[in-house]
Amino acid sequence: MDSCIFCKIIRGEIPSSKVYEDDKVYAFRDINPEAPVHVLIIPKVHIKSANEINEENAEIISHIFIVASNLAKELGIAHSGYRIVNNCGEQGGQTVEHLHFHLLGGRDLTWPPG
Ligand code: AMP
Repeated sequence: MDSCIFCKIIRGEIPSSKVYEDDKVYAFRDINPEAPVHVLIIPKVHIKSANEINEENAEIISHIFIVASNLAKELGIAHSGYRIVNNCGEQGGQTVEHLHFHLLGGRDLTWPPG
């Protein structure tokens, strides 16, 4: 999608700190990290939010979770623990309308979130 900031990151039009890429997903460091490890994992195909996950695109979601699990190991947070977060919609705190999963770790994460 032309105007989408995350699509621009995927296309290399906006710089990012890439940690992983394959034909389906792109993962990069969050510009405003909330934890020592804060990576965003996004599908290369533009999906607006979790509201648009369906039978046709569901495969990308399982792939994202495999990537998240692998990255947690590579980034050294698998043993201590981590959180995978998706914010959906305005009240869910979604600020970028391209489906993304936050991988957070490296500190004690409080629960419930605010
Ligand atoms: P959310 O609030 O769940 O929509 O998350 C969007 C996330 O994208 C926030 O944590 C932002 O800090 C992050 N973000 C926005 N622009 C960029 C960027 N250019 N590079 C890296 N992370 C970004």
